[in-house]
Amino acid sequence: MEYETIVGLEVHAELNTKTKIYCSCRNAFGLEVNTQICPICTGMPGTLPTLNEKVVEYAVKMGHATNCSINNVCKQDRKNYFYPDLPKAYQISQADIPLCEHGYVDVMLDGGVEKRIGITRIHIEEDAGKMLHNDAFQGSLVDFNRCGVPLIEIVSEPDMRSSAEAKAYLETLRSILQYIDISDCKMQEGSIRCDVNVSVRPKGSTEFGKRVEMKNVNSFSGAMRAIDYESNRQIEALERGEEIFQETRRWDDLKGENFLLRSKEDAQDYRYFPEPDLTTIYIPLEKVEELKKTIPELPNAKVKRYVKELGIPQTDAELIAENLQRCGLFDECVSIGGVSPKTVSNWILADVSKYMNETGKDISESNLTAEKLVKIIKLIEDGKISNNSGKIIFDEIMKNNADIDAVISEKGLSQISDDSAIEKIVNEVLAANEKSVNDYRGGKTNALGFLVGQCMKASKGQANPAKCKELVLKFLNG
Ligand SMILES: [Zn+2]
Repeated sequence: MEYETIVGLEVHAELNTKTKIYCSCRNAFGLEVNTQICPICTGMPGTLPTLNEKVVEYAVKMGHATNCSINNVCKQDRKNYFYPDLPKAYQISQADIPLCEHGYVDVMLDGGVEKRIGITRIHIEEDAGKMLHNDAFQGSLVDFNRCGVPLIEIVSEPDMRSSAEAKAYLETLRSILQYIDISDCKMQEGSIRCDVNVSVRPKGSTEFGKRVEMKNVNSFSGAMRAIDYESNRQIEALERGEEIFQETRRWDDLKGENFLLRSKEDAQDYRYFPEPDLTTIYIPLEKVEELKKTIPELPNAKVKRYVKELGIPQTDAELIAENLQRCGLFDECVSIGGVSPKTVSNWILADVSKYMNETGKDISESNLTAEKLVKIIKLIEDGKISNNSGKIIFDEIMKNNADIDAVISEKGLSQISDDSAIEKIVNEVLAANEKSVNDYRGGKTNALGFLVGQCMKASKGQANPAKCKELVLKFLNG
């Protein structure tokens, strides 16, 4: 029998607000354990939380960016459970009325096919602390710095049908989070984590199978492996005539397997109830609209514009748009104008990206500006310098913040494109190489390359090669 895999994802993204969600402790990663804490985020009796307004604003922005409707009146609820990293023994989250719901994102699959993935809801909540399991100590320690770090949870509809679709969806969410600048999206620091829900059903069936959840998968590639593994596990079980149970399994990325953790809890197990220490959230509609206006052109729209209006190939457009720094530079160069967008894109994806990868720097931290890049490209397109000289100038800018005109004159990079000057060189070279001229005319066409090479040499590499070839040919065939 043929099966279909159904995937739904719950993505947790840490917001990059300066302070935590319910207290004024710093929201920062990687600091000394238990130094960014206070009685509120460690759940001391008698303390009261105060909601950080920025958290609400950031979540509303994400709602707008994913086409959600915004519940400008909503509330927060307690989700009760015990775990050593949760000192209050409850997490403040949102249950029945999330801040944002009924949205969608369009994701680009291989081959340029677009697919719409529904967003069920986006709600705000607080993160828990972090357990540090220590073998030498033969026990576990807990770091509460992460307690109260603001999170949004983005819950998708079960609209994905493969691990590849899930990856495309995760990548789309990540670039949106980066574009609207509400999360630093550092997977290695756990800023984005996801719970993966997988079920399978016979192809053609409209009913969903029992779903299995895998919690806290912390890389996109891990999510793909977890989906493929779980989907195969379920298919094999069904083929053996076994039943699939709704349960939570732990994904072990190193082993590449998952293990039963517990039979799946239902919402009622958490005994949600309205958080009595916080008032209703109310956002004036004008504020909701104001936040909508701050949403920039999003990655998907950018890719479409690059392909349709600027003639950039789909893959290149996606590579440019997936990185905020790259597309910022690209957009600026194109708006300065006077050069081919395709050439700008080639430079950004080759030389600029290579430099950034090698140095680990962002474009904004380098000496490169859009004006400088456009100037180099324009000099090449106008035949004033060779492509190779352009690369030399680029290196000089990156390494020494050199002035373009100064590099050209110091290194003698200006290219001769003037017909009469090149013609003079061609005449001299051809007169001195009578044998090769005769070879060419006698049918040995590879003599052409030699003659053009001699002309380039005579010009000390400064002649425009295309012009040179054109004039040599004119002479030989004339
Ligand atoms: Zn605190």
